[in-house]
Amino acid sequence: MKWSMIATWRMALEGVRSGTRILREHGNIHQAVVNAVTEVEDDENFQSVGYGGLPNRNGEVELDAAYMNGDTLDAGGIMAVQNIKNPIQVAYTLSKYKRNCFLAGTGAMKFAQEHHFIMQDMLAPSARKRYEEMKVNLEEMVQQEAYQGHDTVCVIGRDDNGSMACGVSTSGLFLKQPGRVGDSPIIGSGFYVDSEIGGAAATGVGEDIMKGCLAFSIVEKLKLGTEVQRACEEVLNHHEENMMKRNGSVGSMSVIAMDKNGHVGAATNLDIFPFSVGDADGNCQVLVAIHENGKIKILES
Ligand code: ASP
Repeated sequence: MKWSMIATWRMALEGVRSGTRILREHGNIHQAVVNAVTEVEDDENFQSVGYGGLPNRNGEVELDAAYMNGDTLDAGGIMAVQNIKNPIQVAYTLSKYKRNCFLAGTGAMKFAQEHHFIMQDMLAPSARKRYEEMKVNLEEMVQQEAYQGHDTVCVIGRDDNGSMACGVSTSGLFLKQPGRVGDSPIIGSGFYVDSEIGGAAATGVGEDIMKGCLAFSIVEKLKLGTEVQRACEEVLNHHEENMMKRNGSVGSMSVIAMDKNGHVGAATNLDIFPFSVGDADGNCQVLVAIHENGKIKILES
């Protein structure tokens, strides 16, 4: 199979479209994945990623991003950063380092400044307005387990040569505790990719996703020869059952995956989880994973 891309949510469709254009023109997988995530970060309309992302309890937009190279297994990430226009680009740069490649807070921001990444106020007017409205009930809101307004853009891609990569970017949970980090920039939880096996990534309540190391668990299933759609469903269902047994509750969790041949899969514990795909026939579209009676159906949207 030739190149292929999969990404979480409908918001990634345009990014996947431009990423697949890069792959069709034989651009490299890193350009395609970083570009796809950057497009989502730059769009103010997406309220959980980059500019337009919803702020923490103090009204500050704090972002997490990570990147992994499936050929070398090199990975990098930044956590709880403010004022960085494109966190994915910083994460990609850090993934080329052998040490000091996951940076948090002020250290990460200093690195971005020193490497001349664009710094800007990331609190968009629309996000400020939403915060002002919610601030009235802040105490009530923070009691809730999963605050409304979260989602992560996760992009997994494979190029013609079989090289794979994965990038993720998020503002995490709306009204989160300052400094809170979810699964997204944690290797093996929010993302993992190995060009010799495949890749996987997650979106949803990070605290619960992390407890199952969902991305790595899916890649381990692929390694054992499980078909990609089945691997997503088995890992997600098993983790959900486990969490219910131990805690009696679990937050929303959705996963995407791609095997080393470019075949894709997705699973969710939401009723409906839209995700974006781009294939070598030039088709870019949104598919939906529908969760019904413990079974997942994948349909065109
Ligand atoms: N997983 C992200 C986090 O917990 C949020 C999401 O994807 O919905 O930060």
